[in-house]
Amino acid sequence: MEQRIALVTGAGKGIGRAVAIRLAKNGFSVAVNFRSSEKAALEVCDIIAAGGGSAFPVKGDVSDPEEVKRIFSGVNEKAGPVSVLVNNAGITKDALLIRMKDEDWNSVLTANLSSVYYCTREALRGMVRAKWGRVINIASVVALIGNPGQANYCASKAGVVGFTKSAAREYAAKGITVNALAPGFIGTDMTDALPQEAREALLKQVPAGRPGTPEDVANIACFLASDEASYITGQVIAVDGGMTMC
Ligand code: NAP
Repeated sequence: MEQRIALVTGAGKGIGRAVAIRLAKNGFSVAVNFRSSEKAALEVCDIIAAGGGSAFPVKGDVSDPEEVKRIFSGVNEKAGPVSVLVNNAGITKDALLIRMKDEDWNSVLTANLSSVYYCTREALRGMVRAKWGRVINIASVVALIGNPGQANYCASKAGVVGFTKSAAREYAAKGITVNALAPGFIGTDMTDALPQEAREALLKQVPAGRPGTPEDVANIACFLASDEASYITGQVIAVDGGMTMC
């Protein structure tokens, strides 16, 4: 069987990095997308190559639909059509609602939600032709439970959940599954940037008593990308050490 291509957005660091490495271990050729973290993305490709896997870097800002078209045509030319898309890229711009700037609202919605639409739309063309595909969207537990100071982020991730379910319904009969993961408190640059008190408060809400690792998320993403997960679609799977249980 030909090697399948997986594209992971924002794969230079954090959860995306772990997902890229894990998918490569499972035999996918991985397109490692980055926006500005080129050195980190090249490092991910080196780690994958050192483990006997296949990976290549792909620069591009997924919040820009023209760049997304370039990302996909670049991957297609280099390796072939994308079989597995992991929409991982995301940002936060936290502020209490009355202090939130319109640009921070718009940039978070564009980076976290519109990007998922732009990338999925491009990926679906090849997946429909192949009658096989996996779209895995990295949402968040706060899409389900909200979080003060993150109205923009929570709205974007709740949007990702709605998008996931609609796309899953549209493409279920075509061999394509679309699922979302809802990570809880995962140790990455995104959560390292939080004040110490905020991190301690978050940890108190985790029955497992520890922050999750990017690998905790990557393991389940990798399962969803497999043939074994063909009957799971439109789901939102929390990877949160029991934080939400909803
Ligand atoms: P991170 O370490 O800050 O990494 C985010 C990645 O996204 C970076 O590699 C960044 O690339 C990339 N990115 C951001 N905007 C982009 C754009 N427009 N185009 C291309 N790449 C872009 O964050 P993380 O914690 O791994 O988060 C990964 C995903 O998980 C995000 O969607 C986040 O919302 C979600 N999540 C995280 C947690 C958590 O606790 N960490 C919990 C729930 C959900 P550059 O550095 O190149 O800009």
